[in-house]
Amino acid sequence: MRKLALAAMGLAAAFWTGAAGAQPLIDWDKIQIKTIDLGNKTYMLEGQGGNITVAVGTDGIIVVDGQFAPLSDKIKAAIKAISPLPIKYLINTHFHGDHTGGNVNFAKDGATIVAHDNIRVRLAAGTVAGLTGAKAAPQPAEALPKQTYLGGSIVLEVGGRKARLTHVANAHTDGDSWVWFEDANVIATGDNFNNLKRYQNVDFANGGDIRGMIRANAAFLEIANESTKVVPGHGGLATRADVVEFHAMTVTSKERIEKLVNAGKTEAEVVAMKPMKDYDVKWGPNEQAAEGHVKNVYRSFGRL
Ligand SMILES: [Zn+2]
Repeated sequence: MRKLALAAMGLAAAFWTGAAGAQPLIDWDKIQIKTIDLGNKTYMLEGQGGNITVAVGTDGIIVVDGQFAPLSDKIKAAIKAISPLPIKYLINTHFHGDHTGGNVNFAKDGATIVAHDNIRVRLAAGTVAGLTGAKAAPQPAEALPKQTYLGGSIVLEVGGRKARLTHVANAHTDGDSWVWFEDANVIATGDNFNNLKRYQNVDFANGGDIRGMIRANAAFLEIANESTKVVPGHGGLATRADVVEFHAMTVTSKERIEKLVNAGKTEAEVVAMKPMKDYDVKWGPNEQAAEGHVKNVYRSFGRL
């Protein structure tokens, strides 16, 4: 049974990344944390769920996203192997459980959770995913960000290291931050970008909008150069060229589907027209993923 569940999860993850509040059946014992050295005391950690970025200063550590709670001990061990310093800040790029599930476990050790204020609101209230109807339960006070911001950028510092968080309004969700470690030339994108060469979920029921996702990727391209290391929400370490490709896909999706929305087509009509047919071959590995993408983009425009 467990094996079956894991196989199903693997498929679901490949087809549909960043699903809101998804709590799939995973055999946690089998998950290993892989550490990738990005240079300048900055690291990417892969396990299960959203990728993690770690930046080590002289008196503490900044971590971006914490994956699922059952992995917290393994993640902490992987970070300890990099540095014995305390984790001072845990940044949440957005509220989805595969990025925030470990919040309580890191806060317990003294980390301050930092995020856009809408994450605090959504974690406290609980959420429902628009496409799947999957529910995420309200989270306890200890899981909520203690330091929040409303817009623009803020900078967090640990000895000699700076993380710049920038909010993008209504993108993957309505509480997204991306993080720029300028001294390491590293961007942590959160789920506004994936490097799976797959369509990305737009959580329209929780303020997501394809137009914001396009703006986020345009912002990444503005600061990235050929040697920038891009830590995606999901998938392996990426380069500027990967972002260029993903950005182009989102722009085409928006242009084609917005045209049909403006022509008064219903969602069912637009889905049936397969407006992304040529892209589906690469980006939508099955019909469900391809249709889901069309619906996500369609509903970005507020029509049901
Ligand atoms: Zn997500």
